[in-house]
Amino acid sequence: MLFPAMDKYTALHEYFGLSSFRAGQEELIDAVLQGRDVLGIMPTGGGKSLCYQVPAVVLDGVALIISPLISLMKDQVMALKHIGISAAFINSSLSPEQLRMACTNLRAGQYKIVYIAPERLAGDGFVSLLQSMTVSLVAVDEAHCISQWGQDFRPSYRKIVDFLEKLPRRPALAAFTATATQQVREDIERILKLQSPLRLITGFDRPNLNFEVRRPKRKINALRALADQRRDKSGIIYCATRKLVERVCGELSSAGISATKYHAGLPDEERRRNQEDFLYDRRPVMVATNAFGMGIDKSNVSYVIHYNMPKSLEAYYQEAGRAGRDGEKADCVLLYSSGDIATAKFLIRHSGENDELSDEERREVTAQDYRRLDTMVGYCKAAGCLRGYILDYFGQAHGESCGNCGNCRGEYVERDITSEAQMILSCVKRAKDKLGYPVGATLIIRALCGGKDKRVLELGLDRLTTYGLMKAISRPQIREYIEYMESAGYLRTDPVHGGVALTPRSGEVLFRGERVRMSVKQPSAEEKPRAVKTDSPVTEGDSGLFAALKALRFRLAQEEGVPAYIVFSNASLADMARKAPRTMAEFKTVSGVGDIKAARYGQAFLAVIAEF
Ligand code: ADP
Ligand code: MG
Ligand code: ZN
Repeated sequence: MLFPAMDKYTALHEYFGLSSFRAGQEELIDAVLQGRDVLGIMPTGGGKSLCYQVPAVVLDGVALIISPLISLMKDQVMALKHIGISAAFINSSLSPEQLRMACTNLRAGQYKIVYIAPERLAGDGFVSLLQSMTVSLVAVDEAHCISQWGQDFRPSYRKIVDFLEKLPRRPALAAFTATATQQVREDIERILKLQSPLRLITGFDRPNLNFEVRRPKRKINALRALADQRRDKSGIIYCATRKLVERVCGELSSAGISATKYHAGLPDEERRRNQEDFLYDRRPVMVATNAFGMGIDKSNVSYVIHYNMPKSLEAYYQEAGRAGRDGEKADCVLLYSSGDIATAKFLIRHSGENDELSDEERREVTAQDYRRLDTMVGYCKAAGCLRGYILDYFGQAHGESCGNCGNCRGEYVERDITSEAQMILSCVKRAKDKLGYPVGATLIIRALCGGKDKRVLELGLDRLTTYGLMKAISRPQIREYIEYMESAGYLRTDPVHGGVALTPRSGEVLFRGERVRMSVKQPSAEEKPRAVKTDSPVTEGDSGLFAALKALRFRLAQEEGVPAYIVFSNASLADMARKAPRTMAEFKTVSGVGDIKAARYGQAFLAVIAEF
């Protein structure tokens, strides 16, 4: 393939089909084009790849991209090839034959971009091969991996430094990460020996993400409901442990939700297959531990649910940030319970398996982990704007209320439910006194509502003084109270009979005036419109055309054997539906439509649009 000299705008329009740069991209690109080192810090989904891909296309020679994850290299290379940029990856997944091929092509100058796993850099063959070539730039993606203070420290990243020193001419070095802490930034600069780099930190806000913390009585029920309401969407569910991943994935599957799973305990082959199933939307829901996702740029993930609280806010923001990368609005829900704190502490205590650390260093790392955990717990308990809490942590100024998080929308408020709790507890007590054993929640609810069900009458629950006491309240609402009271220790499940039974805490409420508070969803919140600020405000699925375009995309993707988002992102389809282009020239104005994609897909999409 021939690459005529071109400027950054031409590259942006013709290859990537984008109309303008996002905040920070142009400055970083300009610096790299001038041969200057850069350190680019942008949130997940901020558009870091473009910052090295555009210079790679504009400059002479081959750009080397060092990236930690094998799975994502393949994906990125596929996406690049799809827009007409010749690219390859070199990692341990290649057979010796494939590796030889890649090296031959590389030597022949056929690639503009080559992704390399850091451990590959040490090989002598590779160094001598590159010594005879023009390297346009070296980009270090997920650069925080080089720091032991960051998430995901990868010792193999330290090999980058030796490698660079062996190159005859040192190209511009461009490091990118989403990790904002000062310590990690300094580490990256120091260890990579960046030479008076342009340091660029863009804003950390992701306006299209809706943040929410819930404290459900039963997480699994809450999760099932959340996933069920989003059946046509793709989502990631993070769990703290492998065991939970297995359980949650099983639960979702038996609820008819097409889920797959990922954790370090699975055989490589299965992990790879599951990841592909997810990327290709064969299974739109991924249940995973935090082993999944670094660098995953599946752009159409529209929700990320945390089944457990992560260990740090950095980790949370990075994982949640995998939603809505295409700019569409997306939901980030954290299902919190106080038990999560113990789990996180356990994980912190047992994560000290990094042999490279001295005792001193290990102690310091652990102390830091606990501080990070406190910040995370603070998020779960925050009463103010959740987005504000995150931005505060990353040191960014913000307005008082974002209007697009669970707390700002005021959906959840603390309510005093002491009197309801007292009614429930006395009904439980009376039923037990009468029958001699505890009955299940369903019967308690029926009795409280004054139900005439056969079982209630048979057992004589209609003769309890508490019968019909909560007539004015709906049954699901009472069930919610009961589930909350169980999770908070005011009730428990009787191990023998399975019914609901009193606990020592029940007595505090019944006889000693303890107040019961529960955070409840305000019923009016449903009607409140969501004030979503986003750079592409589209309500997905509200137009028949959008659905038709999606169906066409699915068909084309299947024919080509690529994930749907490689054909076009949701954001592109939304823009297409909005603009409803009639001609090829109009089609090219759609975001994400470059020359290659216009030529390849233009006719098919124009035909579907014309039908409307
Ligand atoms: P990250 O910073 O997390 O690596 P990516 O580089 O994967 O982010 O980009 C995230 C998404 O943003 C991609 O879908 C990409 O196409 C899109 N994107 C990047 N730059 C722009 C831009 N200038 N205009 C529109 N979309 C963009
Ligand atoms: Mg990235
Ligand atoms: Zn808010």
